[in-house]
Amino acid sequence: MASFPFLLQVHSGHNQVELSYNGQHLEFDAPDHNETKQSSGCLPCGPSPSSTVNRTIRTVDILNIVLQEQLNIAVCVPKAGPRSESALEVFQFQVKDQTQAAQWQANVLSHVYKDVKRSKHFKVLVNPFGGQGHAKRLWEHITEPLIKAAGCTYDITYTTHRYHAKEIARDLNILQYDAVVCVSGDGVVHEVINGLMERSDAIIAHKLPIGAIPGGSGNALSFSLLGEDHGAHVGNATLGVIKGRAMPVDLCSVTQGNERFFSFALQSFGLIADVDLGTEHMRWMGEARFTVSAVGKLLSQATTGCELAYIPVETSIKRIHEQYNEARQRPVVWADQTQDELDTNHTSIIDKFGRATDSLRQEDGWVVENDDYVTVVGAKMPWISKSTVTNPAALPNDGCIDLLVFSKNMGRIAGLAIMIGVETGEHVFHKDVRYMKVKAFRVSPKASSGFISMDGEHTPYQPYQVEAHRGLISVLSIEGRYARSMKQ
Ligand code: ADP
Ligand code: MG
Repeated sequence: MASFPFLLQVHSGHNQVELSYNGQHLEFDAPDHNETKQSSGCLPCGPSPSSTVNRTIRTVDILNIVLQEQLNIAVCVPKAGPRSESALEVFQFQVKDQTQAAQWQANVLSHVYKDVKRSKHFKVLVNPFGGQGHAKRLWEHITEPLIKAAGCTYDITYTTHRYHAKEIARDLNILQYDAVVCVSGDGVVHEVINGLMERSDAIIAHKLPIGAIPGGSGNALSFSLLGEDHGAHVGNATLGVIKGRAMPVDLCSVTQGNERFFSFALQSFGLIADVDLGTEHMRWMGEARFTVSAVGKLLSQATTGCELAYIPVETSIKRIHEQYNEARQRPVVWADQTQDELDTNHTSIIDKFGRATDSLRQEDGWVVENDDYVTVVGAKMPWISKSTVTNPAALPNDGCIDLLVFSKNMGRIAGLAIMIGVETGEHVFHKDVRYMKVKAFRVSPKASSGFISMDGEHTPYQPYQVEAHRGLISVLSIEGRYARSMKQ
């Protein structure tokens, strides 16, 4: 067994280079291509510069090491901030001794893919309509090159209509794939999950991991996995798909009339639903459409009446905050280390608290109120889109729904303060905001028309009931938890 550092002597043009891998990083001196104004990427390219720069590459960013006549090391260059172009960098070296190089390659790769499957095979769904219509370009310029460089393979479908992704998931040969990767917003993910859950073999199909590449205007999953700074970055999201492991995530079952379907991210009523669904005509604005619309609605002080019922687990924001910090201290649990609810009864998912059309059973501990609300938002994800951390204490698999309630009496000043707080999740500490962990909730609207949004998808304006099912789906994640969404 080789011990760290794993060393290999190679050449880059006329320069001798030592590749050193210590279990955490790969380090080497690379010619300084800025000096000769060459584009970074392949080495050697163009005349060899005289000076070198030290490159330190994290294990997680190494996509692949390929040894043919040369040694190629493919790396994802981590970047924060807005969507950027190619995140792939390939370093090329000449080897002196093929046998030594092969041994070094095997040693390093065994660490690079320690607990993660190599060369995954993906079903890729690209929604060319999502967001501002950039998903196809993001796939071609950023995601596809990284996936190929990592040695992964895929079948791709460009969705052509609403429910296309659902149809595909319903008929997919799931045994062929390691994951379904959605280059889209949350709508396509929502459809994939519902397609998987409708299958006669849902008991197996629901375990197919989902990967999220932010290509829509509401990318809740991507932001929740990667956080505010990285959530919109397609390179990082792609890395998460290639290097991610299946993390168990709770799924909400939603009943409405005779229907039952599933929601993985958020269920909104009032302002947040209006902002989400009432701004289709502002799609050209990208994510800004949500902010612009929310400010307008807050200033108009609109409220919506409903009967709100919920089964509380924790109603103190102080305690919820403490529990959030405690949860982040606990070791990560992966999907293959857990038993989900479906496994325990082996047939179907039972909604323990009934349907939206049932009367509420007292023994379940329902709390019922009738009022006008600015908004009622249930969520399993902290972020709903960039700078919108509506439910900051949401955890992937605590078995609870985070319920956010804005009361009717907040004035314009408080409303705007809360609105600013939503950018960071601080609003939950505002006196006019209620934030609870619940097992289930029901919203019965009083008006005859309005918006109800499930994962950003339009849903009939009728009473709906939501219940969380622990760890029912899995999403690909490197960290095994969501990005930190509440300060310590
Ligand atoms: P966004 O975040 O911008 O809303 P989503 O990925 O959530 O993007 O998708 C929005 C909607 O687009 C979903 O309802 C999805 O079914 C639908 N859709 C998918 N493909 C197409 C298409 N080719 N044309 C129109 N709508 C589509
Ligand atoms: Mg959407």
